[in-house]
Amino acid sequence: MIIGLGEALAYGQQHGIAIAAVNTPFFEALVATIRAAEATGVPVILQHAQVHEGEMAIEDIGPAMVALARRSDSPFVLHVDHGEDLDYIERGFAVGFNSAMIDGSRRPYEENVAVTANVVARARELGFGVEGELGVMTGNENGDPSQGVADANLYTDPEQARDFVARTGVTALAASFGTVHGVYHREPHINYPLIDELRAASGVPLVMHGGSGLSADEYRQSIAHGVRKINYYTYAAKAALDAARAEAAKPEVILFGKVAAAATAGAQRDVTAFIRTLAGQA
Ligand SMILES: [Zn+2]
Repeated sequence: MIIGLGEALAYGQQHGIAIAAVNTPFFEALVATIRAAEATGVPVILQHAQVHEGEMAIEDIGPAMVALARRSDSPFVLHVDHGEDLDYIERGFAVGFNSAMIDGSRRPYEENVAVTANVVARARELGFGVEGELGVMTGNENGDPSQGVADANLYTDPEQARDFVARTGVTALAASFGTVHGVYHREPHINYPLIDELRAASGVPLVMHGGSGLSADEYRQSIAHGVRKINYYTYAAKAALDAARAEAAKPEVILFGKVAAAATAGAQRDVTAFIRTLAGQA
């Protein structure tokens, strides 16, 4: 079934957990995430990032995401991840997505406010939630070369977060407090007091990007300080690749279907463990 972003985050708040938000730009990751959600019984956010368009168009994978989510008894949100403008987000809404992130974080502040408020106005007409972003995290969801190191100069300022949420009306706020996208090249250092300050100042649930590669304890502490949505892709995609490589290396395997099934199973194990950690089941 499909639920709204606000409803999923309220579930997280009520249960003191964070909602897993998984990018599924290939079918094996999608099936894996659906099965993982069903095994754990908590809401999950399925998302497609604009940066993945080169590998997979939202018009191709989006309808499959919507159909599998509708068919399932588990609750899912269909979310556009890192939409750069309203045009891309409308493409997601057109295939059945009901939630979006508008990422204006690399724009000048006033421009970020304007573009985000515009998306919120459109989403409200449809009854959909919106995630905004303030503060810069290095890297992206596509494994592009990133410094792999968070830059404290780019952390989100709590007072600006207060102003941003008040002026845009976002449902949730992605903020920079020590995580990076992709693979960490140095020990992550999460600024927990800053998470507290951002949560209090903004008044909305916080979103952590760059969720791959943190320890279970780092997830738990971040959740305890007010993070309610954690984005995840890199490690699930790596788990699928590792399982596919191992399967493909078997001499008796001569058809791709076996490799695809192994990739699904590998991603499913990884995503299930991730959801269980966020939901306090592990
Ligand atoms: Zn992100």
